Amino acid sequence: MLFSGSCLCGHIAYQVKGPPIFPHLCSCRMCQKWSGAPTVAWVSFPQITLTWKGIGGAPSFFRSSEQTQRGFCPRCGGTLCALNEGDPNVAITIASLDEPAHIIPTEQHSYADEAPFWWNVHVAGKHFD
Ligand SMILES: [Zn+2]
Ligand SMILES: [Zn+2]
Repeated sequence: MLFSGSCLCGHIAYQVKGPPIFPHLCSCRMCQKWSGAPTVAWVSFPQITLTWKGIGGAPSFFRSSEQTQRGFCPRCGGTLCALNEGDPNVAITIASLDEPAHIIPTEQHSYADEAPFWWNVHVAGKHFD
């Protein structure tokens, strides 16, 4: 099961191989500041299946905490992935996938309490508070 994605400008593109692992939402303040959105939808894949396909090769990385580096396009700023120290998987932003509707983040809503109060989150009929 192959999944492909890219940033907004297409400079950075990737391919990963499924099955998808732990598709979930995160509304922590770091995801919010990084993305500019109230919530980020994430899904993981084994890091060994990840290949960079765009002309730009690998994305730029910002270390947002001791354990986490966040990958983004240096040209358009598109938010693509996160690598956690010691984790064999790579977390991919579902919205950067070419077909984001194929993966539904029903597993969990992390840091739901940090989401704005006006943000009501329903995923495929499931309500997250
Ligand atoms: Zn880009
Ligand atoms: Zn987060």
